[in-house]
Amino acid sequence: TESNRRRNDARSAEAFARAKKVIPGGVNSPVRAFKSVGLTPVYMERGQGSRVYDIDGNMYIDYVASWGPLIMGHAHPEVVEALRKTAERGTSFGAPTELETLMAELVCERVPSVDVVRMVNSGTEATMSALRLARGYTKRSKIMKFEGSYHGHADSLLIKAGSGVATLGLPDSPGVPEHVAAHTITVPYNDIESVKLAFEKFGEEIACIIVEPVAGNMGVVPPLPGFLEGLRDVTTQYGSLLIFDEVMTGFRVGYQCAQGLFDIKPDLTCFGKVIGGGLPVGAYGGKREIMEMIAPSGPIYQAGTLSGNPLAMAAGYTTLKLLTPETYELLERQAVRLQLGFEANASKHGIASTINRVGSMVCPFFTEKTVINYETAKTADMEQFKTYFAAMLDLGVSIAPSQFEGMFVSAVHSDADIDETIALQEQALSRL
Ligand code: PMP
Repeated sequence: TESNRRRNDARSAEAFARAKKVIPGGVNSPVRAFKSVGLTPVYMERGQGSRVYDIDGNMYIDYVASWGPLIMGHAHPEVVEALRKTAERGTSFGAPTELETLMAELVCERVPSVDVVRMVNSGTEATMSALRLARGYTKRSKIMKFEGSYHGHADSLLIKAGSGVATLGLPDSPGVPEHVAAHTITVPYNDIESVKLAFEKFGEEIACIIVEPVAGNMGVVPPLPGFLEGLRDVTTQYGSLLIFDEVMTGFRVGYQCAQGLFDIKPDLTCFGKVIGGGLPVGAYGGKREIMEMIAPSGPIYQAGTLSGNPLAMAAGYTTLKLLTPETYELLERQAVRLQLGFEANASKHGIASTINRVGSMVCPFFTEKTVINYETAKTADMEQFKTYFAAMLDLGVSIAPSQFEGMFVSAVHSDADIDETIALQEQALSRL
């Protein structure tokens, strides 16, 4: 019967075995290996709109969205067309193109705190570069980040990190020199008192606070009222910079990103994911006075052979242009629909569940605790998640293989998609 549906994964298993011989762990990014859920990774063949199809012929309603970027769904016709047209004229020049300026103008127009923006090739590059800039600008070495936040894999930021680091239960990564790690101060998310205490002690040495304005790498955790305001105040007081890492939230949770939603102006902002429309893109931007410290206008070095390349800019620009204020209203509606359905399912099956949501980032935690930081996120029942994840896959719903990741609703998830997902999730819960 439908509720006993199981996937065939013979071809994926074969593909994985072959990959493991030539790729570390078989994958180019750790969580893709499904290690923590004890399954064979699903090898994808294609995606269209809200759906993805694997090489064994299984179809899934997709909420991974390439880990966030695909807010307009897979292979959006306008994005594909822009890529095709651009590719025909050459994929990269290493010389400036006008499209880069169009892109920068669009970002500056949409995000009020950004006067100037530099394009890079990943979120990691964006945060790493923003850190260097903050340190160079303030002439200070220490930085502050939050436990369970992930900001990419730059040395300074791989301390008490979330996302795959949390999923795999890894300690702080070997290979990060102690003297580098020593400059990173970590405190619990949403805990403004701890932030203030640390600043009382080290404030004059802290170059910046880097924060996900909505945490998305310990599952989804919204900022408590006053938290982001508190960070703005304390950094201003001590002459430190406030960096919003909007790699996940940027152009995802609102038309003007999370900073528009919460009405806070950071000094610097990092972007990634949605800004690249599915191509490898990151960006960092902010106050002109600070950004002008970057080479060639200033002495702080940062460069990139493929930065701002035409394909990346075409996909990103087209995607941002498709995102109107109405798109975010639609995303909100669909995400609320999903949340309410999941909440009803959980109570029907008597399953302890807390669903956190900001805009189209939705995260059901298997805990009855209110999840406000990494500590409370970890109260979720990981064994239950494992069973749930496998059931969702078998039933045809693709979610990230970790309790520490949210689901991404896209603008192409129809009412029917959402309702089908809710029905399938109920079957998944009945298997727990
Ligand atoms: N910052 C945040 C908030 C992220 O979620 C991520 C990736 N999930 C990164 C930085 C790193 O981005 P990338 O994987 O593109 O290097």
